[in-house]
This record gives sequence, C-alpha cells and structure tokens, in this order.
Amino acid sequence: MTDHTALVLFSGGQDSTTCLAWALDRFDHVETVGFHYGQRHAVELETRPKILARLRAGNPLWGERLGDDHMLRLDLLKEIGGTSLTEDTAIEMGKTGLPTTFVPGRNLLFFTAAAAVAYRRGLKHLVGGMCETDYSGYPDCRDDTLKSLQVTLNLGMETRFVIETPLMWLDKAATFATAQALGGDAFLDLIIEETHTCYLGDRTHRHAWGYGCGTCPACELRANGWAKFTAAAP
Ligand code: ZN
Repeated sequence: MTDHTALVLFSGGQDSTTCLAWALDRFDHVETVGFHYGQRHAVELETRPKILARLRAGNPLWGERLGDDHMLRLDLLKEIGGTSLTEDTAIEMGKTGLPTTFVPGRNLLFFTAAAAVAYRRGLKHLVGGMCETDYSGYPDCRDDTLKSLQVTLNLGMETRFVIETPLMWLDKAATFATAQALGGDAFLDLIIEETHTCYLGDRTHRHAWGYGCGTCPACELRANGWAKFTAAAP
C-alpha cells in the first residue's frame, strides 16, 4: 500500500466529481470506482466517462495522476428493492422518518466493495462525497458511521485505509466554491455541464446550475447551493 494513492467513489454526480478533483490535487495516483446497483436512471453512469475524459484532457497534472476506472455490479440493492432510487415509486418522506430515496446499507456496501478494490490495487485513501451538512438525513452519510466503518475495514482486512470525506462539513454553496478553488472556472464549467444530480434523471432542462427537473429534492439542493454560491461571488 502506497501512501500517496487514493480510490475515489465516483458516481458522476457533483459531489463525487468535486471529491475526485480534491484527490487529484493531493495524491500522486488516483483511481476511481463506480457501481451499477439497478438505479432507475443510468444518466450518472453515462456521464462518468465524459467527466474522466475532460479531466484527463483539461489538466496535464491531473491527467498524469488519474489511473484506472473500476465498475462493479451491486445488483443486490435492486433485488432488495423498496426505495425510490431503484423503483418507480414516489420520492417522499417514509414511515421511518427518512426519505424513500434512502437505500439501506448502500454506502456501507460501496465502501466495503471499494476497500476490497483498494486492497487489491494497493491504494490507501478511500474518498467519498458524503456530507452531513446539506444531506437528507441518511444515517450512512454521517461522519460517525464512516469513522466507525474505517476501523471495521482496517480490522477486517488487516490494513491502514483512511476514509476521506472532504465535503462532510460543507454545504452545496461551499462545494461549488471548492470546485472553483481546485480547478478554476474550467472545472466549475465541467461540474455544471457534465455532472448529474437529479433524482428523476432529467437531462433535458438546462438551468444556470446544470441539468435537472428543477423540482426534486436533489435539484432543489443544487439550485439553492448555486444561488448562494453566486450571490457570494465578487
Ligand atoms: Zn431533479
């Protein structure tokens, strides 16, 4: 395992793309991992290769550091079902007090699978875009959950992985500002044009903040973050 290496959980969304730039800025060698889990919309997965190509072409240092991309199937999440991200059901507050977009165990599975890839590839830092600030109350995005998981993974694999969540305490406006600080206006433009957040998979409506339906909770968060970010810009 080499110190200055990372594996980024990369979905093609705004948060994970910002995390990828954060890792490329810091580590000598960075690989990416993505998951098919029977999500209703494959839009994010279609944007992933476009984002990787633009990152390679747009920044020579990042291009040099960016290594292999790994795609894994976690179809069991769809088999288990019962969420609005894997089935065509309403996005609303569920009986448990969590939105129906919550996929139980998803981030735990993602990090466990990512750690297994990192183990094979000799990569030390596992980077994810989880966030407690603007989140929808998902318990597997919590800092405590991921710190505890880091301990479990290291015990279970006899390793010294470090789970990194650079966006944990940022709101969406600060995430836009982070992207700009890391890669300037060119990277901010990539975030707007190519990353996908909308729960409904809408790529037909273009807003100042990017593509999406504009009304689902994910679009609302992104739109509000963009409004706050641009209001604060000089
Ligand atoms: Zn939307």
